[in-house]
Amino acid sequence: MLTNRRSFLATVATAPAAGFLSLRMASAANRAAPPAGNLRIDGQRLRRHIEELSVFGRPPGGTFADGVTRIAYSDADIAARGFVLQRMKEAALDTRIDPAGNLIGVRAGEDARAPAILIGSHIDTVPNGGNFDGALGSLAAIEVARTLHDSGVKTTRPIEVVVWANEEGVAFGDGLCGSRAAVGEFKPAELDHVWNGVTKAEAIKAIGGDPSSIAAAQRQPGSVHCYVELHIEQGGILARAGIPIGVVEGIVAIHRYEAVIEGIANHAGTTPMAERRDALLAAAHLTISVRDVVTGRRGRQVGTVGQIAVSPNAPNVVPGLVRHSIELRDLSETTISEMAAEIEVAARRIAGETGTAVTLTQTSRHAGAPADPAVLESIEQSAALLGLEHLRMPSGAGHDAQMLARICPMGMIFVPSRDGISHSPAERTSWEDCSRGADVLLHTVLAMDGTTVRS
Ligand SMILES: [Zn+2]
Repeated sequence: MLTNRRSFLATVATAPAAGFLSLRMASAANRAAPPAGNLRIDGQRLRRHIEELSVFGRPPGGTFADGVTRIAYSDADIAARGFVLQRMKEAALDTRIDPAGNLIGVRAGEDARAPAILIGSHIDTVPNGGNFDGALGSLAAIEVARTLHDSGVKTTRPIEVVVWANEEGVAFGDGLCGSRAAVGEFKPAELDHVWNGVTKAEAIKAIGGDPSSIAAAQRQPGSVHCYVELHIEQGGILARAGIPIGVVEGIVAIHRYEAVIEGIANHAGTTPMAERRDALLAAAHLTISVRDVVTGRRGRQVGTVGQIAVSPNAPNVVPGLVRHSIELRDLSETTISEMAAEIEVAARRIAGETGTAVTLTQTSRHAGAPADPAVLESIEQSAALLGLEHLRMPSGAGHDAQMLARICPMGMIFVPSRDGISHSPAERTSWEDCSRGADVLLHTVLAMDGTTVRS
């Protein structure tokens, strides 16, 4: 039997709330003439800034190719944040650090009261990480602001560049720290968590945040026009297809279940085949039914049985008890719950056929974050304007953007990762692809603002 069904039905029921914002966005986009394609970021400057940032956390005596270890709140992170603040100031941004330690640079719009367009990413890394994960999106956002400033382009809305604190979560074991605070998902009890001998409160203070007023980092729904993040794909789809721009449809939801199968443990030599209640045999059938259910419909959903425990786990005993995981991922939680219901039907049939009792329980549920249709369209139009081939795709990895999606329309731009490698010094995106991604970000910002740029 599936438990917790009520909770995911409730989630589905509340999901359409974003529709109101989408409509508002769509009308704003329609009002504006499409921006001319002449404006470009400075690719050489973007490259130089990525190379300069890579020095912070580089192994001693190493080069760019040796990658970077820049754990959030570390000395390398703090020094890198200083470098980023300087680049924000050079781009004429009005800088501050919010209570969660997020770095913010604001470019005023003509309408000071209009909700801002947020762009950015993170600069912390995993141990032995790469030079592009987070760094590209952060420095490209600053480059966009600098380009607008240097070209004298005025936008209606304010533009805020945000570098989110502790995205990776290597420190304190849970990530998206700054972006969670920005949407009110940061729990005050987290401030007492200890990592490497310091509390999270002390760590946030060390990067210039104010843990005592962390709630003030929260932004209210409706206060942000949209959030757009440029990021490396961290997978190999774009590189394999030879397509420079990925248009992210959303960040997938992940639901996990535990299947408990109770049979009867008995002597493997004396129990006739027809009299067995073999829990592992039932688990084998259930594993195949997970594959069949997931592949039985169109789409890019995936399902995995990846963990199993057999009891008593002996060669001469018919297995009496099996516990195994079932993980389902898709952009649509409705699709996931439909698949879970189909798996439940299969489990009942298998229990009947094998003389076992099968119980399915949901053990965890991470909500997905769909991209906003209007932002997604602006990204596609910008790529088309720049003559760049693009591909719609889901993100299987988590990003700060999934938090922002809770309070505002969200969109993400992916650029190719060479050989699909990430979280490694071997992480590479060609400089040309970095520039292309930043140009798409620039034109997406203009499109979402409704600004027309003429040559
Ligand atoms: Zn990242």
